[in-house]
Amino acid sequence: MGQIEQKSDFDYLNVFAELTEAQENWRQVANSVVSKYLQPGVSEAFDKNHFDRDIPQILGSHSLIGPHVWTDSGDLADPIASGLIMRELERCDSSYRSFASVQGSLVMYPIKKYGSDSQKEKWLPNLAAGKSIGGFALTEPQGGSDPSNMQTVLTKSEEGLRLRGKKRWVTNGPIADVIVVWARGEDGIQGVLLPTDRPGIKIRKIDRKLSLCISESSEIEFDDVLLEDVDCLPGANSIGKALDCLNQARYGIIWGVLGAAESCLVETLNYCDERKLFKKKLSGFQLVQAKLSDCCLKLTQGQLLAMQLGRLKSSKAGIAPHEVSIGKQGNVHMALEVARTCRDILGANGVLLDFHSMRHMVNLETVFTYEGAHDIHRLIVGLNMTGENAFAN
Ligand SMILES: Cc1cc2nc3c(=O)[nH]c(=O)nc-3n(C[C@H](O)[C@H](O)[C@H](O)COP(=O)(O)OP(=O)(O)OC[C@H]3O[C@@H](n4cnc5c(N)ncnc54)[C@H](O)[C@@H]3O)c2cc1C
Repeated sequence: MGQIEQKSDFDYLNVFAELTEAQENWRQVANSVVSKYLQPGVSEAFDKNHFDRDIPQILGSHSLIGPHVWTDSGDLADPIASGLIMRELERCDSSYRSFASVQGSLVMYPIKKYGSDSQKEKWLPNLAAGKSIGGFALTEPQGGSDPSNMQTVLTKSEEGLRLRGKKRWVTNGPIADVIVVWARGEDGIQGVLLPTDRPGIKIRKIDRKLSLCISESSEIEFDDVLLEDVDCLPGANSIGKALDCLNQARYGIIWGVLGAAESCLVETLNYCDERKLFKKKLSGFQLVQAKLSDCCLKLTQGQLLAMQLGRLKSSKAGIAPHEVSIGKQGNVHMALEVARTCRDILGANGVLLDFHSMRHMVNLETVFTYEGAHDIHRLIVGLNMTGENAFAN
């Protein structure tokens, strides 16, 4: 064994040493649920592109989806506790954190914040328990970075509202009971809460992914789906409301990717300690130590960033979108670099599913792109810093 013993987390500068008792408790619950139920079968699930449908209820029965952290207004009661849960889920695989992000931040959050009382009553308890599954459909085939070019439409007809269009990359789609769909209505962008058993909805699973293989991704066609006014989320009446939901999920990503990076680094440290080349341990070579040291520094910076954003989000002033953006782009980039470096140090073994680093690395390629692509977040920060909008002409 090296100086840093095999344990599931990595906290070089004791960034998480001063958690409250409640936060530490949530971290431990999430860690033990993940270790018991998710971690043992993760490589197999990735290899078989399989999302075990018992998992939502396992997470729900331990209160790891949403409710323990939501206040009545829909805000996170303890953003740091919530972040710690995401970190544990993604330590295992980004797909499990993605499931929880979609279910909690992109489905339960808009229902809680923008839904009617009857929508809350009908859906929130089962979503929290993992008995119902939700999806969030914003991205369309013509380009996710520009939601203002939305082609999915909500029109009024004599029978009621009609939904027509195509969404792509909807996580959880093939297993969802309900989907938050964003469409262009006569008065602007509107979010609707659509049960998936309505006639006219065609959900097709997206196969052949090389990333986030455990996650169920889908394309969804809405072929004149008939809706009633009560299917609309009353408060979800602008693109800003969709972005508000995304910002909740992005906050979770800032924490989640720490778990992925920590998993890679712990795996690699232990490997280096055991592997011998040129008659000495891999951990004894200067170049290897330089790489490990760089990973340690980047990861620690990412942990500090997450903690500071957690503190800001817990404060009265809250957290601004550009602050979420700097965290999302910074920490996902950091985690990708750590995962790639660890994969390199593991040598040929690093390309095997028996090790975790390359699985994390390919998953993080998706995380780099979704929830606002990396460069979109740089542009958001750039706009905030300069006042100049560089998105379009
Ligand atoms: C596995 C997976 C799961 C997903 N889950 C969901 C989900 O549940 N719900 C959902 O709605 N979406 C989901 N997405 C979609 C995701 O949010 C989009 O992929 C993302 O928004 C980027 O859109 P795009 O892929 O169409 O890329 P594009 O928008 O086509 O962007 C392509 C490239 O152009 C760059 N670019 C774009 N605009 C600019 C600009 N103005 N200036 C400079 N560069 C620019 C981008 O940074 C990117 O590098 C998922 C995606 C994946 C891969």
